[in-house]
Amino acid sequence: MAYNKGKYPFEAASKIAHMEVIRDPALAEILQGLRSDTPATVPPGFLKTGTVDLSKPHEISTVVTVDGGMTTIPNPKRREKRVAFIQVGIMLLSLEDLDRIAEDIFMDPRRLNAYLKRIDRYPSIVPLSGVRRPGRTLRDSNREILNAILSPPWTGLYDVLEFLLWRGWLGPTSPMPDRSMDCVQCRRVFSLPKQRTFSCPHCGFDHYLSDYLGLTTETEDNGREQLASMVMATVELLALFLLPMKLCKARKLERLREILLIKDGPLMLRAEGYRIVDGVREFVEWLYARGHCLNLVGVEKTGDFAEFIQDFEKQLPEPGDYFLPSRKFVVEQVQGRSFDPGKYRNRVSFGSRLGVRLSPTHMVALQLPTSTLDEGGPLEPKPADMSALGNCIRALSRLTSTKPDNAILPLVLANSAVSLSDRPSAGILDDYLTQMAGATA
Ligand SMILES: [Zn+2]
Repeated sequence: MAYNKGKYPFEAASKIAHMEVIRDPALAEILQGLRSDTPATVPPGFLKTGTVDLSKPHEISTVVTVDGGMTTIPNPKRREKRVAFIQVGIMLLSLEDLDRIAEDIFMDPRRLNAYLKRIDRYPSIVPLSGVRRPGRTLRDSNREILNAILSPPWTGLYDVLEFLLWRGWLGPTSPMPDRSMDCVQCRRVFSLPKQRTFSCPHCGFDHYLSDYLGLTTETEDNGREQLASMVMATVELLALFLLPMKLCKARKLERLREILLIKDGPLMLRAEGYRIVDGVREFVEWLYARGHCLNLVGVEKTGDFAEFIQDFEKQLPEPGDYFLPSRKFVVEQVQGRSFDPGKYRNRVSFGSRLGVRLSPTHMVALQLPTSTLDEGGPLEPKPADMSALGNCIRALSRLTSTKPDNAILPLVLANSAVSLSDRPSAGILDDYLTQMAGATA
């Protein structure tokens, strides 16, 4: 994200500050704050929480990165006709490959291309405007598209959605969680059956399982960019849990300790996404309670916390130093809102934030899941709540890249791979699982 950091805004602010009409002390202070170039004062509560010893070994050998890219494609002759082309990719690289790429900055582009191909792509299209289907309402068109996106041969990610909604990790005989939804047509509530298509018991209207996600109801043309980004975020989240699901079904969860899962962006799904997030929370809690490893990390490259952490480099001087803030600290000191623990609710997150120094030049904002995830995690998370903390930071410290600032190499590669033009998926994950099966047989 680009910000205008030029001198022009400061000059403008200075002119305003000197205008006689402005005598309000609060406004004067705000403008003074904008002009200030002295270092930010350390807010109360900002203390180094601890240090991860980066010299200790870890077991991670494979890095799986999930990232999404979205492009708006207009019809060149009729600009009002536009669709959003979404591409979510799961990139799988060995730590050795990544070391080789990091060491060889003048790498032959053909060799780099070979690495970039190590990605499974999940392409989708969401109509934005001017693209109507005869005899279909906008709502029903959207519903059919979302159903098609989650079905094979598009992404086939219904498998992951069902796994998360119906507690697939407990096996087929486990009691079904209570889930209900509003009918798309008559709006009355009914219990969700364990099927991909079903009818409303009140009015008989035919539904898809994807209707449960509540993404496509009441979407007008102007909300459609938002719908497209929600679809992308949903596909990213489901893609993130594809490998853990496959390992769970193959009864190979012990192999999770070899894998670092990196998500581009925070560990959350906004708005109606809570319906998947509660399944994610239960699965992650179950994994940790059973003593399984889940080296999962969200990397926030933009946003309040990512910017905040850059101002306090001196507080985390050594590689491995980290700051694990309370929710109160994030809400009050970072987002500048007031925090009431009695009213705090969170249905969208499955991780807690931390600021980490990965190298002499790398300060990053991360999110990691905690062992309990009610309301997104404890109000005051402790290092002991994050069993994957040491593993994740040790592995990430080997994956730093200098371009752009604070970058993490697998994310740089995944960004560039999902922004390339469409290429057929190579079935990388399935190849990996087949190899894994061969290695343990
Ligand atoms: Zn109905």
